[in-house]
This record gives sequence, structure tokens and C-alpha cells, in this order.
Amino acid sequence: MGLLEGKIALIFGVANKNSIGWGIAKALQREGATIVLSYAMDKLERRVRPLGESIGCELMLQADVTDAEELDAVYRAIAEKYGKLDVLVHSVAFAERDALSGRFSAMSRQALLDAIDVSAVSLIELTRRAEALMIDGGSVMSLTYNASRKVIPNYNAMAIAKAALEAITMYLAADMGRSKIRVNAISAGAIKTLSAGGIAGFRDLLKYAEVTSPMNELVSQDDVGDLALFLASDLSRRITGEVIYVDAGYNIMGYTDVETLMQEVE
Ligand code: NAP
Repeated sequence: MGLLEGKIALIFGVANKNSIGWGIAKALQREGATIVLSYAMDKLERRVRPLGESIGCELMLQADVTDAEELDAVYRAIAEKYGKLDVLVHSVAFAERDALSGRFSAMSRQALLDAIDVSAVSLIELTRRAEALMIDGGSVMSLTYNASRKVIPNYNAMAIAKAALEAITMYLAADMGRSKIRVNAISAGAIKTLSAGGIAGFRDLLKYAEVTSPMNELVSQDDVGDLALFLASDLSRRITGEVIYVDAGYNIMGYTDVETLMQEVE
């Protein structure tokens, strides 16, 4: 029997087969979960529907995470079809291109507020609605990045949004604990995806991460999926409020002799 047999998992943020959310969907489904996918815009349906069908999804629902009515409709559909929810995955982020390059102090106030709203505050909106359906307790997780804790050039608005997301994770975990709902964040290493492409210099960052991480490796969507599986399952039953890294150790390094390492690789 799979680790997630009989569990219902709702995943926000699958845009295409490269999305981290898709790596998570595959891992949870592999262990028996029934997956519900939510995507941002109607125009994505063409790409998301075949993916969902390949893992037996019966519900694929459009919702902008800043639109209360669309979110209500997603949770209503789950209540009607399944009567409960066990796992919630927030794999959503957005920032304007201008807020992901150049000088930090030059960033527009509105661009920063929008990034925080879509990428962090939405976790509160999704979790509050999930609580009513998590009648047997549950597991909530989101995706963060180390730019929240260490300066990584160009992440600007997204770095601040991720810092907010990690703080929200702690406060939600404290708030939801009595309902036996655990809330954690996965801090993933850099992965080439649609939204990562919006960050200036991302290709160089990938190379740097590969060369300087202790394991000399990049992280894949499937690596993140397997950590998400652990967090979704009872194996992580007493873990809440944490930020857990899956980054081949990249975040622990303080200094690396990049020049020598690059020569070794070339
Ligand atoms: P992705 O495939 O582009 O996924 C991001 C998703 O967020 C997309 O489906 C996007 O939809 C959705 N989204 C944006 N605004 C939305 C809104 N208002 N309402 C609903 N959905 C919205 O990129 P990803 O890299 O897998 O990102 C998933 C998560 O992982 C994000 O939180 C990201 O910050 C995090 N993360 C990524 C990396 C990395 O290096 N890739 C590393 C660490 C953490 P649209 O395409 O329609 O905008």
C-alpha cells in the first residue's frame, strides 16, 4: 500500500512539465494520493490538462491565488467531490521582470507588494480555506528559496517575498497545530523552470550552484517531489513550522574556490 493511499492532495502552481509542482504531483500520485491540480490562467489549461490526465486527475481547476471567489470555487469543488482534503501544496510565485534585476533599492513599491501578495500572502488564503476540509488533520507545504536568508543578486522582490513566506510558515504552523495541520516550507536549489527564467542571470546561477554545492549537482523537480512526499506523509508527523532544504548542500557553503572548481569541470 502506498504512503498516501486514500489521501486527497491539492496542488497550486503547475504551469507545465518543468514546474516543481508537477514533480510533486507525480511523487504524491505514485504513493497513492488523488491529485487535484489548480492552474493560474485559462490559457494554461491546454498544457495542464494532459499532464493531469496522465496521473488520473479528475479535478483540474483554474484559480488566481489572489482572487477570493476563484479560490472559494476550488475548495467548494473539492468539498463536493471528495468531502475532505489531506495535503495542500503552494508552488506559486510571481514578480514583475523589473523587480528581478538591477538595484534592489530602485525596485518599485507596487512591484514588491504584488510579489509578496501573490507569492506569500496567498499561502494564508489557501491554508485558511484548507483548514475547514482537513478534518483528519493535514500537511501544508510551500516552496521557498535561499535568497530569503542570503543575498543572491537580482532576486530582489522575490527574496523579500520568500522571507515573508518563511515567516508565514511559522505563524501558520503555530496557528494550525491544534487542528493537527502541519505547515512547512521546502527550500529548493535552483531549477530551470518557466518562472526561474525571469530572474536576470539565472543561467550563471545554475552553473555556480552546481560547481559550488558540496555534492557538485543540481536539484531536479523529482528530488523536490520526494521531499514533498515525505512532508505529505505520516513519516513527517511531528515536523511543523520548518524550512527544509533540498539543494545538494549549496546553502551551507560560506566560501568556495570557484576558479579552481571551474577549471576542474572544464
Ligand atoms: P513555474 O513552473 O513557473 O511555477 C510557478 C507557478 O506559479 C506557475 O504555475 C504560475 O502560473 C503560478 N502563478 C503565478 N502567479 C499566480 C497567481 N496569481 N495565481 C495562481 N498561480 C500563479 O516555476 P517553479 O520554479 O516551478 O515555481 C514553483 C515554486 O517554486 C515557486 O514558489 C518558486 O519561487 C519556487 N522555487 C523555485 C526555484 C527554481 O529555481 N525554479 C527554486 C526554489 C523555489 P503562470 O505560469 O500562469 O504565471
